[in-house]
Amino acid sequence: MKISRRAAAIQPSPTLAITAKAKAMVAQGIDVVSFGAGEPDFDTPEHVKDAAVAAIGAGFTKYTATPGIPELRRAIAAKHERENGLKYEESEIIATVGAKHALYNAFQALVDEGDEVIVVAPYWVSYPDMVKLAGGQPVIVETRVEDGFVPSPDAIRAALTDRTVAVVLNSPSNPTGAVWSREALAGIARVLEGHSCTIITDDIYEHLIYTGEKFINILNVAPQLRDRTLVVNGLSKSFSMTGWRIGWAAGPKPLIAAMQKIQDQSTSNLTSFVQKAAIAALTGGNACVERMRVKFDERRQYVQKRFAAMPGVECAPIGGAFYAFADVRALCPKHYKGQAVGSDTRLAEILLEDFLVAVVPGAPFGAPGFMRLSFATSMEQLEKGLDRIESFVQALS
Ligand code: PMP
Ligand code: GLU
Repeated sequence: MKISRRAAAIQPSPTLAITAKAKAMVAQGIDVVSFGAGEPDFDTPEHVKDAAVAAIGAGFTKYTATPGIPELRRAIAAKHERENGLKYEESEIIATVGAKHALYNAFQALVDEGDEVIVVAPYWVSYPDMVKLAGGQPVIVETRVEDGFVPSPDAIRAALTDRTVAVVLNSPSNPTGAVWSREALAGIARVLEGHSCTIITDDIYEHLIYTGEKFINILNVAPQLRDRTLVVNGLSKSFSMTGWRIGWAAGPKPLIAAMQKIQDQSTSNLTSFVQKAAIAALTGGNACVERMRVKFDERRQYVQKRFAAMPGVECAPIGGAFYAFADVRALCPKHYKGQAVGSDTRLAEILLEDFLVAVVPGAPFGAPGFMRLSFATSMEQLEKGLDRIESFVQALS
């Protein structure tokens, strides 16, 4: 069978693949600790579930307008005004099947064959492949652990060309947990002011910050970029709603309209009754979000403490999201069962096969020599999994 070049040019999502492998092992009765997927372990808040059940009961089970019902779009607009100081009209908002879908539609709407999109490394695994699926070329801007994984304005400037159609910003970052400061965002904004590309800010981890800072995105420091900035967000991480598939994008009307056409001809609306649940989440206050953030913070501190005591594993302070992105380059030359570990990919394999703990290697995030551990799991699992990682480190010679 002929498979398209587009499909052949991309990889399965490594985060989802490792999670699936760990789940399959658990299903076989193997006691695997999974630090794979970035997925909160908490249940979706009760009032959100109730709203979906009520909507199904009331027969709210038909197609809706492609970008979401007006009530949902108004709730999203109100959220942006209340929490982010950003004003959007209903027509500047599209609700999507997860934030992933918003990003996908955005790249489809912006990128032509050969166009370039700037992606900051370490990056979330799906950005480069989504750009490729749209026919574009991801252009990677490297950052260093020493700089807190924050890109320098000069590095962004050097990557911009006359083919650059978009740049993707993600703070708090998956996988690094970096939270970009106001100064860093202002520096990047100054560079982008000199170019006409679209800016995509992926704010999905906005509520998960542990440094005491208030969340800001590029529009809070450079409102003049509003006409060419797309804000992407969703409820997967903040309201523990990964399986519901609810996200959105807010931005300039022409871009939202183009994304809507693409969505019209592909998925149509996101699930009708999920929209009612999303309204309940967006209008019901953030007390439940804050309770989860406090729990994540306890886990973050525990993981940092454990890694600090493991020779050869360096984990920079985690500012946000729920990932520890640990530098394991010092472990790679060491030997396990008579052979050099060699790479982060092999290290993750050994951890899964011999120590029954699933982590994601750094390479798929554009950061070989690192490993990502999601701490969106119970303290009990964290203790068990980190004990196993420690045994692995001790087994190296
Ligand atoms: N952006 C980032 C940085 C993510 O980590 C995720 C997690 N999958 C997403 C977007 C997409 O989230 P979802 O599609 O579940 O809303
Ligand atoms: N964003 C999460 C992660 O990085 C979920 C899996 C995915 O969609 O990649 O693990």
